[in-house]
Amino acid sequence: MKITRRGFIQTVGAATAIGVAGVPYIALGAGKKVVVVGGGTGGATAAKYLRMADPSIEVTLIEANKEYYTCYLSNEVLGGDRSLDSIKFGYDGLAKHGVKVVHDMVTGIDAAAKMVKTAGGQSFGYDRCIVAPGIDLNYGKIEGYSAEVAEKIPHAWKAGPQTALLRSQLEAMKDGGTVVIAAPPNPFRCPPGPYERASQIAMYLQNNKPKSKVIILDAKPKFSKQGLFIGAWQKLYGYGTDKAMIEWHGQQEEAGVVKVDAGSNTVTTAFGDDIKADVLNIIPPQMAGAVASAAGLTDDGGWCPVNLATFESKIHAGVHVLGDASNAIGMPKSAYAANSQAKVCAAAVAALLAGQEPGTPSYVNTCYSIAGKDYAFSVANVYRLAEDGSKIVAVSGGVTPGDASAEQFKRDVAYAHSWFNNITKDAFG
Ligand SMILES: Cc1cc2nc3c(=O)[nH]c(=O)nc-3n(C[C@H](O)[C@H](O)[C@H](O)COP(=O)(O)OP(=O)(O)OC[C@H]3O[C@@H](n4cnc5c(N)ncnc54)[C@H](O)[C@@H]3O)c2cc1C
Repeated sequence: MKITRRGFIQTVGAATAIGVAGVPYIALGAGKKVVVVGGGTGGATAAKYLRMADPSIEVTLIEANKEYYTCYLSNEVLGGDRSLDSIKFGYDGLAKHGVKVVHDMVTGIDAAAKMVKTAGGQSFGYDRCIVAPGIDLNYGKIEGYSAEVAEKIPHAWKAGPQTALLRSQLEAMKDGGTVVIAAPPNPFRCPPGPYERASQIAMYLQNNKPKSKVIILDAKPKFSKQGLFIGAWQKLYGYGTDKAMIEWHGQQEEAGVVKVDAGSNTVTTAFGDDIKADVLNIIPPQMAGAVASAAGLTDDGGWCPVNLATFESKIHAGVHVLGDASNAIGMPKSAYAANSQAKVCAAAVAALLAGQEPGTPSYVNTCYSIAGKDYAFSVANVYRLAEDGSKIVAVSGGVTPGDASAEQFKRDVAYAHSWFNNITKDAFG
């Protein structure tokens, strides 16, 4: 069946209405405590929506940092169209919803004792715990790369100082320089992210250092929204010609960059090719945030298996994991997915604490990629749980057509900015 965008929007409208209206838990979880670990997009949304679902639940959110920088739209900071301050958010909004916000690093979650411990020496008992620590970078998979080396050769896959570092290196680079981006193997946070990043950097170079170029060394043979990116690169950056500002080198799975020499800014690919860069951006393979594996919530793949209807861990009862850290089979690792999963999880936790059966979930994700000035495209899906609960299945959706008009591509930029304002208000406002 061909799904039109109009039909899709109607379906989203219906799904959203059910999601918001269908939370009938009134003060049934009185006196119950929930601890949320990690106040990124997923954790912040879960904490807020849990308080909205049942204000009698005591919700404590423990977040390591006082400020959260969104990764989404951080590529625009690299391109120079956005300030770092514009992607920075604090936690006052959550406090207004009655969420107790604690800034500390969680070091352990004891599922048997129902207790969360922090580096600052605090302990928090809970009836249910929601864990949303995002990703950690698997430095060990790339010889010569580490958290220390990342202070010189940024990954910029967690936004904030890393974004500022990569931007300053781009600004300092000479005209005629080469930017090398090492793109990670699947699964990883934000599948279209490395390619949006290449586009934004190319846009900056085109306007400021036009003799320069971006080389993507990919660990994969194909990538998300590939046709739309290639189309944009052909139109905007001469892709495929001898004046190309972006080169993409796909490789077989797990065969990307395997070694970094920080001294000479050189990477080595699995095939033994050495490539020297003026600016190097290594995006390593990824895994669930460290606290998840420390708490024994991860499987052999490094991600957290969960019941997809409630996001309760399949390993530890009473602990829920959502967002990038979870293995939400069928959904990409995105902020919108984390936000949507958080609402499903909050409604389920409120129901379970009230002794009720959780409802039937629906989920949503839209992902915008801004490939250049007045040029963006998107993919959007509404999802339901498969009958047997084994996966989350897209039931309706749409993608910007490759032959969209200039006006449509331009409109998607406005939609992307509007989406950013809405999701950050939804999570942190
Ligand atoms: C360049 C880039 C572009 C992107 N663009 C988009 C986009 O356009 N659209 C989109 O939907 N998604 C996008 N994403 C993906 C999106 O940023 C992530 O999917 C999203 O942030 C996941 O949310 P989360 O809550 O799971 O994790 P996070 O947002 O990473 O939050 C995790 C939080 O947990 C905290 N934490 C971790 N461990 C501990 C601990 N032990 N104790 C206390 N706190 C802890 C961290 O400090 C952090 O604040 C992009 C990502 C990147 C890198």
